[in-house]
Amino acid sequence: MIPHVKTLSVVIPVYFEEAVLETFYRRVVEALAPLEAEFNLELVFVNDGSMDRSLEILLALRAQDTRVKVLHFSRNFGHQIAVTAGIDHASGDLVAIIDADLQDPPEVILEMIEHWRQGSKVVYGVRAERKGESPFKLVTAKVFYRLLGRLSEVKIPLDTGDFRLMDRIVVERLREMREESRYIRGMISWLGFKQ
Ligand code: UDP
Ligand code: MG
Repeated sequence: MIPHVKTLSVVIPVYFEEAVLETFYRRVVEALAPLEAEFNLELVFVNDGSMDRSLEILLALRAQDTRVKVLHFSRNFGHQIAVTAGIDHASGDLVAIIDADLQDPPEVILEMIEHWRQGSKVVYGVRAERKGESPFKLVTAKVFYRLLGRLSEVKIPLDTGDFRLMDRIVVERLREMREESRYIRGMISWLGFKQ
């Protein structure tokens, strides 16, 4: 019997990322190459109304690589809506969310998959450092996550962006949550499962 080849979808929200998109694409494809025997790859880029060359670059990537899917918004709807659309269009047994600006190292997805193999349904990436961010952003982000932790009944891991891997079982439950005001990392924590 031929073993069932699973699909890994990677969802990438894109807003004015023309400078890094080609590098990002190369790096993610290289990083995930070791999975080839076991997983088909699907890259779901969501252009969140960028007015730079992002769309043009994405369409060129799609023309040369059938694993690339492109969604394009009529205007900027914001990061959380872009991620939502990407998840809605991701067909994978596993779905990863990653930023396009290479602040989330794509190689870490391999480690996330190891945790998934050991039974976790959601695996988070935690930020040890944030390269290229201003001191103001670093401090406000730190304060934000700690304040949120105090205010919220749902325990959301500190210093995580949306960089995470989810099993299809979690994706399906998340997709049922159609709240208009979305904070995806909080919603995923709220869902439960082994994280
Ligand atoms: N992004 C988006 N829409 C926006 C703002 C950002 O799709 O309105 C994308 C952006 O291109 C990046 C990710 O969302 O891939 C995270 O954005 P950013 O790097 O600005 O966030 P931070 O590093 O502060 O988490
Ligand atoms: Mg960033």
